[in-house]
Amino acid sequence: MDKDSSNHRDCYTIIVQRKYNHLSQTYCDHMQNTIDTNVLVIGAGPCGLFQVFQLGLQGIGCHVIEALPHPGGQCVELYADKPIYDIPGIPHILAGELTTQLLAQIKPFSPVMHYQQTVIEVSQTPQGGFMATTSSGKVFSASNIVLAAGAGAFNAVKMRVDGINAFENSQLFYSDISEPLMQSASEKMRVVVIGDTPDAIDAAIQTSPACTQLTYVHRKRRLSASPQALASLQTHIDAKRIELINGKITGFTTDDTNKKISHLSVVDNNKQEINLPVDYILARLGNSPKLNNFSDWNLQTTRHNINVEPACFQSNLPGFYVIGDINFYPGKRKLILCGFHEATLAAFDIAAKLKPDKPVHTQYTTTSTELQQRLGLT
Ligand SMILES: Cc1cc2nc3c(=O)[nH]c(=O)nc-3n(C[C@H](O)[C@H](O)[C@H](O)COP(=O)(O)OP(=O)(O)OC[C@H]3O[C@@H](n4cnc5c(N)ncnc54)[C@H](O)[C@@H]3O)c2cc1C
Repeated sequence: MDKDSSNHRDCYTIIVQRKYNHLSQTYCDHMQNTIDTNVLVIGAGPCGLFQVFQLGLQGIGCHVIEALPHPGGQCVELYADKPIYDIPGIPHILAGELTTQLLAQIKPFSPVMHYQQTVIEVSQTPQGGFMATTSSGKVFSASNIVLAAGAGAFNAVKMRVDGINAFENSQLFYSDISEPLMQSASEKMRVVVIGDTPDAIDAAIQTSPACTQLTYVHRKRRLSASPQALASLQTHIDAKRIELINGKITGFTTDDTNKKISHLSVVDNNKQEINLPVDYILARLGNSPKLNNFSDWNLQTTRHNINVEPACFQSNLPGFYVIGDINFYPGKRKLILCGFHEATLAAFDIAAKLKPDKPVHTQYTTTSTELQQRLGLT
C-alpha cells in the first residue's frame, strides 16, 4: 500500500466518522479492505467499456463497478436484440453483440469488474483523489474516477403489492434464488416465478429442477422469448414440472406467526381468484435506471447531466471525468459514438496526469509497437 493511499484512507476515516458517527466502526472495517486504483470506472455500458479500452491503450489498468449483474448498459438492458446502424465502420450490429465485441476488445487489459453493486457515495480527499463506496460495502481509493452512468444505475423493478417487499431476501428475491434453494435442498420447495420478460422465462426453466413445485405467473397473454426458450418452457409444462398461470398477483397471506408468506393471491385472466401456496418468490420484472444525486458528490449539473470541459471531459472536480449519456457540454448528443470519443480524450488526459514526466503522444494501433504490446499482439 503506498503512502498516498493510506493518507486518503485516514482522511476518509475522518470524513466518514463525522458523517456517520454511529456507524464509524463498520466503515472503518470496510476501509481495512479499501481497494486502491489509479482509475475507477463507474458504469459498464458501452461508454464505460470503451473507457477501459482507451485506458488500456495508455497502459492504465482500472476497476469497473456496475449495478447490474452484467455489462452492456442500455444496449443490453433495453434493446439487446435490436440493430444499431451508426457505429463507425460497422453497417449494422445488434446492441447485445456490440457489447460482446466491446468485451472482446478490452480482454487484453483485464479490468477488475465488480457487478451487482451501485456506487452510492463519492468524496474527495485533500490529496486530490477520491473515495467511493458501493452498496455492497466495498470502498475504493482512486486517483481518478470516470463516471459513465448513462441513464442511471439499473435496478430491479420491485413488486407493487402492499407489504410484500418486507420479505425481500428472506422469501422474495429479485435476482438470484439459488442460495435459499440450496439451503433448503432437503425440504419440499414451492417456488413462484413472476414476470413477462424473456429473462423471467429463462429463470423459471433454470429454477425448476431445484424445487418441488414451480408456478410461473405472467401478466401478458402472449409470452415473448426466443423460439428455443418457448419450446423449452412448453416441454417443462407438458412434463408438469412448471405450472403456468396468466394472471396478476394481487396480495399475499402470512402464516400464524406473520413472519412468513404462506400464499400468494392471484387473479387469473378469467378473473378467477387463486390462492397459491409458496415458499419462495422470484420476481423478474425487468430493471429500470435511477440516477444518483450528483450534487451530493459536489458535481455541477445542467438538467441532471454533469457539466464537463469538452477538451478532456473532466467535471468541476479535478480527476473526476464524466463520459457518455450522463455528461453535458454545448452540442452534446447522447450517442454511443460521441461517448467513444469522450472516453478517448479522457484517457489521454488521465495518462498525462498519471505520468507527468512523460509526454503523451498520439500513437496509431496500426504502427505502434508499444500499443501492440499492450494489446498482447507482439
Ligand atoms: C431503444 C434505444 C435505442 C438506441 N439506439 C441507439 C443507436 O442506434 N445509436 C446510438 O448511438 N445510440 C443509441 N441509443 C442510445 C445509447 O444506448 C446510449 O447513448 C448509450 O447506451 C449510452 O452509454 P453509456 O455507457 O453512457 O450509458 P448506459 O448504456 O446507460 O450504461 C450506464 C451503466 O452504468 C450503470 N450505473 C449507473 N450508475 C451507476 C452507479 N452509481 N453504480 C454502478 N453502476 C452504475 C448502469 O447500471 C448502466 O449499466 C439507444 C437507446 C435506446 C434506449
